[in-house]
Amino acid sequence: MNGEVEFGRRSWRTGLLVIQPTPFCNINCSYCYLPQRSNKKRMSLETAARIFERVLQYPSIEESIGIVWHAGEPMVLPASYYEEMFALIAKLAGPRIEVGHSFQTNGTLLSQDWCDLIRKWRVNVGLSIDGPAEFHDLNRKYRNGAGSFAAAERGLELLKKSDIPFYVISVLTIDSVRHPDRMFDYYEAAGIENVCFNIEEKEGINTSSAVVDGTQFAELYRAFLRRFYERAMQKKNSMVVREFESCLRAIHGFGHVIGNQQSAPLDIVSIDCDGNLSTFSPELLGMDHPTYGSFSFGNVLEDDFDTIAKRVEDSRLYADIRAGVRKCEDECAYYGVCGGGAPANKIYENNSADSTQTVYCRAHQIGIDVALELIERIPPDAGHLLQASRAVADGRAPPI
Ligand code: SF4
Repeated sequence: MNGEVEFGRRSWRTGLLVIQPTPFCNINCSYCYLPQRSNKKRMSLETAARIFERVLQYPSIEESIGIVWHAGEPMVLPASYYEEMFALIAKLAGPRIEVGHSFQTNGTLLSQDWCDLIRKWRVNVGLSIDGPAEFHDLNRKYRNGAGSFAAAERGLELLKKSDIPFYVISVLTIDSVRHPDRMFDYYEAAGIENVCFNIEEKEGINTSSAVVDGTQFAELYRAFLRRFYERAMQKKNSMVVREFESCLRAIHGFGHVIGNQQSAPLDIVSIDCDGNLSTFSPELLGMDHPTYGSFSFGNVLEDDFDTIAKRVEDSRLYADIRAGVRKCEDECAYYGVCGGGAPANKIYENNSADSTQTVYCRAHQIGIDVALELIERIPPDAGHLLQASRAVADGRAPPI
């Protein structure tokens, strides 16, 4: 690696490393897109040392970097593994690069050891819970068919007891989207203050989705958000709902320009336990496609930065992503708050990154429409909702 960023790549910046230390997951959600989730291989500390030694020298990484430990389930590896890993990364990053770690976890394996590690290293925690047991357990099951809600809730309680801030990501399904009040009551009773909704997506090996395929989806989702936002607005102490916050943030600005990390080359760098590297949408790691071939652009242990960057730059995928974003800019009224969507969704729904609307982005548009409808009812000083928005802007709440 010569450390030179060639012309045309000079402005490429890496803001996020998504690391898959193991593809294995201890549960087996029915909508999971990961084909390797039963594979127990893991990134050894020796391999990690070689990977981070090289990656942290990439010229696209400047003074800070976020690292998301997103497997499989990252907590199937022991807390002691991350203790060693975080110490190693801190040593390699030195004072030059500020590193912020995040776990995206199903919460079922959380223990006091994990809470101690999270507090010590100030790790951001995103917990995947799909609402109350009657919805969560429909899809988030162990391999023997048992639901994982009870274990996830134990994890949630442990985080609260340890005073660890966290946010919840909930996948809305055709079952839960019909019950906004039941969902809201659950979050309120569980003391969940930051929530993000994802819809069940067609991605990877999850080739069908009752939500995406259902004709009633738009209507149900609109009604869900309308009711959920209304309840959130009535709540005295703030509940941050990502979809609402992203709209408020776009309207009020807070000095933020809505960007699109997933369309920017090497902005998100995803690496698997063998050092294979992908970019754009993290969901592309480990996947391939009839048109694009493998979404891997090389191996960190074998290829230098310039080789990988050139492959990305010359790829059909990057050309199509740019063309798709240009079409979005020309055709879509929501471009200013979207930035051109997620390449993975365009590929898995439209079979090409050179495309625009997906059902996924239709859901995003509905979120914006409903927030705009309700925003006029926020009092002039915008009360607690603007405070919540400021929490988003200050990085104390989950990003869009
Ligand atoms: S909402 Fe959809 S169509 Fe509009 S800019 Fe985003 S990805 Fe493109």
